[in-house]
Amino acid sequence: MKSCERCDNKFTPKVSYQIYCGDACRDEATKDKIAERYLRIKRQRRIGKKRFCIGGCGVQISIYNDDGFCANCNINKKIVDKMLKEVKEYFDYGKE
Ligand SMILES: [Zn+2]
Ligand SMILES: [Zn+2]
Repeated sequence: MKSCERCDNKFTPKVSYQIYCGDACRDEATKDKIAERYLRIKRQRRIGKKRFCIGGCGVQISIYNDDGFCANCNINKKIVDKMLKEVKEYFDYGKE
């Protein structure tokens, strides 16, 4: 018996190198690996380049920043998103 590397289920491997309990877990793990690799390549491409916050504040952001906003603007973006949502809800409400 082995435990699946993904879901921890116990299974009997058909081949000695089998590490996942079934196709579903294997497929999910493969997808994760592809996504992980994609993200790593994306980050590596940023090395050596100066990246600035897309909020327009001029703050330089790290290669590990995936949404492009600095911490400050990220907060502002959330507030703006929330406000827009509330405004939308208000108008939706008015329509009825
Ligand atoms: Zn599994
Ligand atoms: Zn910013």
